[in-house]
Order: sequence, then C-alpha cells, then structure tokens
Amino acid sequence: MYHITALADMKAFSRQARLTGKKLAFVPTMGALHEGHLSLVGRAKEGCDAVVVSVFVNPTQFGLEEDLARYPQDLAGDIEILSPLRVDVLFSPSAADMYPQGFETFVAPGSLAASLEGACRPCHFRGVATVVLKLFNIVRPDVAYFGQKDFQQTLVVQRLIEDLNLDVQLIVCPIAREPDGLARSSRNAYMSASERQAALVLHRSLRRAEELFRAGETKAGRILEEIQKVLATEPQAKVDYVALVEPTRLQPVALVTPGSLALVAARIGAIRLIDNTFLGSPGRYDDPRRTGRP
Ligand code: AMP
Repeated sequence: MYHITALADMKAFSRQARLTGKKLAFVPTMGALHEGHLSLVGRAKEGCDAVVVSVFVNPTQFGLEEDLARYPQDLAGDIEILSPLRVDVLFSPSAADMYPQGFETFVAPGSLAASLEGACRPCHFRGVATVVLKLFNIVRPDVAYFGQKDFQQTLVVQRLIEDLNLDVQLIVCPIAREPDGLARSSRNAYMSASERQAALVLHRSLRRAEELFRAGETKAGRILEEIQKVLATEPQAKVDYVALVEPTRLQPVALVTPGSLALVAARIGAIRLIDNTFLGSPGRYDDPRRTGRP
C-alpha cells in the first residue's frame, strides 16, 4: 500500500491508473477506521481494480461549537488496519495543502442539505460538498463508496455529481453495526461504558418503528410518537431530531409506505450519534451494484 500525502503524487497515481485502464475506487473517510469503513473498502475491492482510501478530517464541515479538536485521529492505527487489506493507496493530505492560504471557493448544496443534519449543523454540507468535490478532482475515481449511515450525505453527494457533471458513480453501502445493533462510528470509542449502553437507544427506537410498521401501522405521527417514547426512556439521550421521510427529497411523510426512511439524531453526553433505517424494505443497499440514486 502506498501512503500518499502530496496532492500532486495522488494525481500522478490516478493518472497512471487511468492510463493502464484500471477502474479506480475511492473510499473517502475521516479516519479512526472501523468495520463500517472496512465494509466500504470490501465493496470497493470487489467492484474495482484499484482502491484509494482517504483519511482527512475536513475542518470546513465542522461548526465552531463542534468536536473538530476532539475528533479521533489515529493515522498509525489506520495504516495498521488497512495494510493487510491490500488497498492500493492511503491518501492523507494535510489541511494546509487542502485549504492553502487564500482558499475561498465553496460548493453551496441546495434544499437537500437544508433539513435534518443541515438544520442542526448549518455549514456542514457546504463543507462536505466542497471537500468531496476537491477529493474527486484529486483522486479522479470511477466509483466512490459512501455509507447509508450518513444517508442525507449520500443524497447531497449524488446531487453534486449530477449538478456539476462529475464522472463518478456513487455506490451506497449498508450500515455496519456492532453485534448489539449500535451503528459503528469513529465516535463510539469515545463513550464511557454507561454512554455506550445509553447509545443503544437509537437502534432500539428504530427497531420499534420497524416493528410497528410490520404490524400494520402506517400513520407517521403514531410511529414518530413511539420512536420518541423509546428515546425518552434513556435519560442520557438528548434528541436532535426524529423524522420519517421519503428517501429522494427527504420530505416528511404523513403515511408510511415500504421504503420510507426513519432517521434519528441524538447526543449522548458530548457524543452526537445518527442512525436510520428503511421501513419494510430491508436490504435496500445490499446489492453492491445499486447506486445511491433512489
Ligand atoms: P466518516 O469517517 O465517519 O466520515 O465516514 C466515512 C464513510 O464511511 C462515510 O461514507 C460514512 O457513511 C461511512 N460509514 C461510517 N460509519 C459507517 C457504518 N457504520 N456503516 C457503513 N458505512 C459507514
């Protein structure tokens, strides 16, 4: 595995891969790699000839009040985890190279970025869209792999690809979970034992939604109420939002149908967690050839 930090070296690798006719996969991450990231790498290896994984904690997607300074970073650990996987490149640019003095151009995502995560984190998707476009321009991948865990992000990126005519295929991969159901996240390791236990309430609340829908409940109001009720059983959980939406425009639904998406975001102590699930259509992203286009 090459470890590349210079932007020019990354571009050179990519140019060479294209010249030799290789299909190039890209898995962008913020590091502190876990099984969720590795499931994306697994899909990337299956579908392409060469795989680039980036590790870059992107400052522009964090608000001033957020946890940029505390975000877990462990490049040595990431190298150790990736080495046996025979990934072709680990690309870890510096913030100074990505955002040099004088940088002032941002991508402004539209209405898809306004609700949910966008409402809680006002400049988040502007930072995400900007860094994703920059990384796509540097890595020039044929296929990029993103996780359903950040569902809204997949829609914003798909929109970015279409609106700005990028030649990248987006593949969305299912949520990797801990054995007890907690969605894997770089932030999980930072929870105390009691917070870790409390965090399970997110998954539990979504399971309750699935259960109700399977039992025939279709009124979104009723299901949302039940999700809130489950979340309220955990005093350490401070809910940011609960939503039932259709998964193309993220519009709230009044009646739930198969394929509607339930999302929750909550803070457990200082850790902010998100999770989501499709109701009545498990395995939506289980086929690796499916794109993020709903
Ligand atoms: P992050 O490092 O958290 O920015 O995540 C990098 C990529 O990994 C994003 O596309 C995430 O959606 C994806 N990802 C993070 N956690 C998981 C998970 N538990 N399952 C699947 N994908 C994930």
